[in-house]
Amino acid sequence: MATRLVEVQKLKKWFPIKGGIFSMTVASVRAVDEVSFFINQGETLSLVGESGSGKTTTGRTILKLLQPTSGKIIYKGKDITKFTADQMRPLRRNMQIMFQDPYGSLNPRMPVGDIIREPLDVHSIGTRKERQQAVATMMETVGLRPEYEKRYPHEFSGGQRQRIGVARALIINPELLVLDEPISALDVSIQSQIINLLQELQQRLNLTYLFIAHDLAVVRHMSDRVAVMYLGKIVETADNDELFDHPLHPYTQALLSAVPVPDPEAKRERVILQGDVPSPVNPPSGCHFRTRCPYAMPICKEQEPAMIEVAPGHTAACHLLTKR
Ligand code: SF4
Repeated sequence: MATRLVEVQKLKKWFPIKGGIFSMTVASVRAVDEVSFFINQGETLSLVGESGSGKTTTGRTILKLLQPTSGKIIYKGKDITKFTADQMRPLRRNMQIMFQDPYGSLNPRMPVGDIIREPLDVHSIGTRKERQQAVATMMETVGLRPEYEKRYPHEFSGGQRQRIGVARALIINPELLVLDEPISALDVSIQSQIINLLQELQQRLNLTYLFIAHDLAVVRHMSDRVAVMYLGKIVETADNDELFDHPLHPYTQALLSAVPVPDPEAKRERVILQGDVPSPVNPPSGCHFRTRCPYAMPICKEQEPAMIEVAPGHTAACHLLTKR
């Protein structure tokens, strides 16, 4: 049976908006609003949705780079929600994040060997010689030549810089890696190289990925399970094939309708979503998706739909499902 590495229960991350002469909280940005999901050891769970859906905030809150407003984060059976910075320190090496922008996330004034070695220094792992050796081994593992360790980030291509990011994230043997749009800043020709590298390393090192992405073709290739987010809520979760073959939530159906189908004979009706994602400061009542949903009914305005398990491991939140 699969081992659960991370579980979040009703996780909320609201950002207060201050105003008035007393700088009081006048409203909140509801970036993440009571989301629940789990990630099993060794699997890839993808979080998908348009920008502004709360995917990145969810990833950062799980790692406690942001303090949750409420809800629970359980890591290997331990509730870490209220852990202090000191309590988190030993766990930090197990949870790493890789950012979208390989240009912005690497210090331009540091040689890449130092950039990759830094997490070992921060966590005081190994002797100086062992750290040097670990850097050389990790550079080879991600397909970089160890003799380039004295070079600076600007001397590398975009794909190589993302490999440096992978090496830095993996050098302390993490268990969980949050991949925040890791390929979207790269040329299409290089994207598949990085995806293949991430998959190969996952197999070899038994890594667990939370993959945050909006490119659904890549998500299909990469994931074991997928969670779809809309305006701070998870609206549907399922195994990869189940979600792509039988999407149930109208938002998921609209998102997937835009993904090219490899079979030219296969027909899929494109659903064009009207308008933008509403503001997370003042989300629509009831179902957050109702202002853009082609099937919205009166009840959608009044009641938030409950998450229902429609098949083993396949859950969705839509009033249409209770009418079937
Ligand atoms: Fe559309 Fe209503 Fe379902 Fe929301 S609950 S997705 S508005 S049908």
